[in-house]
Amino acid sequence: MALIKCHECGGQISDHAKNCSQCGAPVIATIKRKQKAALIGFGVRLGFAAIFAIIIWITFHRFMDKAMAPLKAMHQQQQSH
Ligand SMILES: [Zn+2]
Repeated sequence: MALIKCHECGGQISDHAKNCSQCGAPVIATIKRKQKAALIGFGVRLGFAAIFAIIIWITFHRFMDKAMAPLKAMHQQQQSH
């Protein structure tokens, strides 16, 4: 038996109870809201992770282009001779 916070009054209610003992709000609504919030939180974190990965990918490619530029120039010089 776990205590959860009622979304209506903020009171502590048992997740086994059907309704909040203080305001009568259905506990299932609180649980569903909690699950939805957790899902949204997961989506936001996934989005941030994707953005972070893209930034790293772009930075890495820019760095590689800079690092490879002298090598490419050398390679082109060797080919022209
Ligand atoms: Zn309540």
